[in-house]
Amino acid sequence: MARKRSWIVALLVELGAWLKNIHVVFTNGGHGEEYVNKDAVYPYVLAVKRICAEMARAFKDDAVEVVAAPAVGGVALEQWVAYALSKMTGRQVLGVYVEKPRHSLCKAKKGEQIPYTLVLEIPSSNGNQTVKPVTVRGVLLPEQELIIEDGSRVVFGRGYADLVKGRRVLVAEDVLNTGGTVEKTVNAVEDAGGRVVGVTAVFNRGGVTAEKLGVPVLDAMVDVQMENWPQGECPLCAQDVPIHTGIGHGKQFLAQKEAAAKAAARSAS
Ligand SMILES: [Zn+2]
Repeated sequence: MARKRSWIVALLVELGAWLKNIHVVFTNGGHGEEYVNKDAVYPYVLAVKRICAEMARAFKDDAVEVVAAPAVGGVALEQWVAYALSKMTGRQVLGVYVEKPRHSLCKAKKGEQIPYTLVLEIPSSNGNQTVKPVTVRGVLLPEQELIIEDGSRVVFGRGYADLVKGRRVLVAEDVLNTGGTVEKTVNAVEDAGGRVVGVTAVFNRGGVTAEKLGVPVLDAMVDVQMENWPQGECPLCAQDVPIHTGIGHGKQFLAQKEAAAKAAARSAS
């Protein structure tokens, strides 16, 4: 489904959603020269509407009945893609979203305060058996609730599972990195008894494929492979190019570097 969608590229660059020729630190610690800032698009509703119409067009003959996307960013996408499909087909196409399940551990009543202690056993990052218990203490104020979010999956809440059941569903997402969130969304659609007809995305920057997601079609508006140099192998660091601190983990990276330099200076003196 590769088509020239250069106007979308131009639009994303214009809105500051696709930053080029910068020195960025990614969440995974790697360095790069480009960055996708999807949050920069959503306030510009006319741009969102245009992009979503393009996303919808590829699926207008697939008898899509529901568009589903992961919250939070995907909420705008499912609305506009479903709107465009409704306009194009003359049928009502529904828009719904999935979210991480939330569990209430405890709620303080009116006029009540509940002190709590949580002991978290966090496995070490190298995956061996040792765990590092962390104790968190706090007080629930009146009418406050202690809620944990389960990030391992997403679900349809708010009665949306009933809307998906037995229907043909298009899954929409803004940025595909590993495709993990979309995979969870596809699973949620299937768990709710819906049938995924395809996935549409704005950015595919991880080389994600339809096969990997286990869906019939994946259509991304922009396919791009971005450099992600391991720290220490970054050519921009070698050239002392300043790190962008407004996005990604640039600020944290510089703070760590400064702390390390201070520690080194202390041990040298
Ligand atoms: Zn670097």
